[in-house]
Amino acid sequence: MKLVFATNNLNKLKEVQALIPSSIQLLSLKDIGCFEDVPETQDTIEGNAIQKAEYIKTRYGYDCFADDTGLEVEAINGAPGVYSARYAGEQRDADDNMNLLLKSLEAHSNRSAQFKTVIALHSNRELQTFTGICKGEITKTKHGDQGFGYDPIFKPNGFETTFAEMSLEDKNTIGHRGKAVRKLVALLNQL
Ligand code: IMP
Repeated sequence: MKLVFATNNLNKLKEVQALIPSSIQLLSLKDIGCFEDVPETQDTIEGNAIQKAEYIKTRYGYDCFADDTGLEVEAINGAPGVYSARYAGEQRDADDNMNLLLKSLEAHSNRSAQFKTVIALHSNRELQTFTGICKGEITKTKHGDQGFGYDPIFKPNGFETTFAEMSLEDKNTIGHRGKAVRKLVALLNQL
């Protein structure tokens, strides 16, 4: 079975590839000749995941899944949420985003946060979504150099290290994307 993962993010591809059974041939956007920016203009995480999966299915005809992820921080009413990628501006820079978030939390003692991933699968005529949540807290400074995005400032509950100090396997076991991907795989195994 061939399935497109609608992302250009090599870190996400690596995380997801590690969880997908070898009977499924995972294709990237590059593999199908899609080099344009796939639109993600909705105002919810779920809406963006669905928009990306529908775009690829409609234009390229492949069965496809897309993920959208946001970091929801309790003390600032769930921000940056769906706007996590461009929290500090259109340059979409991970360091700028983390610096702004650390600054926004300076006056707050509540540092609880969660990552939320929604995967939208568009296979045949059906659209299904799978959600994965990982709860934790925002650290006061950055730690580690693994992973990507906000990983250096997110410490999952029950751990003393940030995602950026964990192996890919450990992050996948407890992480938001791993949880959503395992639900997706359970469904794919039934097809
Ligand atoms: P998107 O799902 O690619 O739109 O991601 C939105 C924002 O969240 C981007 O700034 C990503 O770098 C960040 N992000 C997505 N997934 C993760 C993750 O697993 N760890 C840390 N940051 C992430």
